Amino acid sequence: MSDFLEIAKANLLLINNDFQQLHARPELAFEEWETTKYIAEQIEDMGLEPRILSDSDGVIVDFPNSNNSAGLLAIRADIDALRHCLTDGSEITIHSCGHDANATMALAVCRILYQRWQQIKHHPMGLRFIFQPAEENVSGAKKVIAEGGLNDVTHIIAIHMRPKAEALMGKATPGVCHSSVMAVDITINGVSAHGGWPQQGVSVIEGIKAVILGVEKAAADLTWPASVKVTVARTVNTIYNIIPDRANMTLDFRAHDSAEMETIWRQVQENIADTLAQSKVKIEYNKRFFIPGPLYDNHMLELSQQAIKEVLGEENLLPFLYTAGAEDFHCYTHARNDLNAVYLGLGADVVPGLHNPQMSFNHDALINGVAIMATLAEKILNENQ
Ligand SMILES: [Zn+2]
Ligand SMILES: [Zn+2]
Repeated sequence: MSDFLEIAKANLLLINNDFQQLHARPELAFEEWETTKYIAEQIEDMGLEPRILSDSDGVIVDFPNSNNSAGLLAIRADIDALRHCLTDGSEITIHSCGHDANATMALAVCRILYQRWQQIKHHPMGLRFIFQPAEENVSGAKKVIAEGGLNDVTHIIAIHMRPKAEALMGKATPGVCHSSVMAVDITINGVSAHGGWPQQGVSVIEGIKAVILGVEKAAADLTWPASVKVTVARTVNTIYNIIPDRANMTLDFRAHDSAEMETIWRQVQENIADTLAQSKVKIEYNKRFFIPGPLYDNHMLELSQQAIKEVLGEENLLPFLYTAGAEDFHCYTHARNDLNAVYLGLGADVVPGLHNPQMSFNHDALINGVAIMATLAEKILNENQ
């Protein structure tokens, strides 16, 4: 059995207790006050000094006795929950994305690694734990960065449970390849006229047609999870005999990574511009939001594979996992593309799925996640002696 799997099992009571405590404190993005308090107390009990983020919605802690001369490894866990409207009209806030599990695993890894850390006087590579708020609204990473959480960081890792359909209990994937997601609002302006004298106006329907054709052309060669489609199209006009002079559209983009997103976006604009070359229709684009895709380091993926093999056995190592969902984690590498990053997916028999108010999972997976993350962290630290 792997070293860390045995240690994780020995920590089972603490792990279960942390999970129960965090599970009982589901809080929305930027309101993770009780969660932060609990995590900070645990960190203090370990003999470490937690640094609480402004507004008390997250925690960062650095292990002592390192000048980070060989880099700094950050282990990031997200801590926010989600609000759901139930069929009876009531609302509940729960950890339906399993961030209580993510925080539990990070706390356990922190506890386990700190015991080993104390046996050595000086560490060339530093170790930091980031308990990040607001993953679900894709804002928490920006806050952590703004408050210096990424300062000196050279390596960053994270883990998240995957739905049963993607990863069974006892298995894990070394890299979850989330999608890059973008929404673009389009305003189309023309010239209004009487329906009987259309030649006096400039119909925005021309623009709508150009956008639909341009999007379809750009989408034709894409493979899932990459896609682009029109999700909103309307003219402000509701009268049958007026040439409409204003329309609004929204496009939803998905891509394997940020580079592919850029290509699709450029293609869509070029296609539309080609169609409208002779047209008097005016078109404006406004990016509503953009979530970057993953930027993983090949060597980190290899180490991640090795860690999974050591803990779960080669037969339980899954291939890279492509998924249409997005992740705030990738805002770290988007801000700092020199970071060595990887984000693992843990099999935990999550049913019926993430973001489902009935979400449940096999709690034994916590032990696997702790052992894999501790093994991976130690590999990175050992390489950077
Ligand atoms: Zn989520
Ligand atoms: Zn999540």
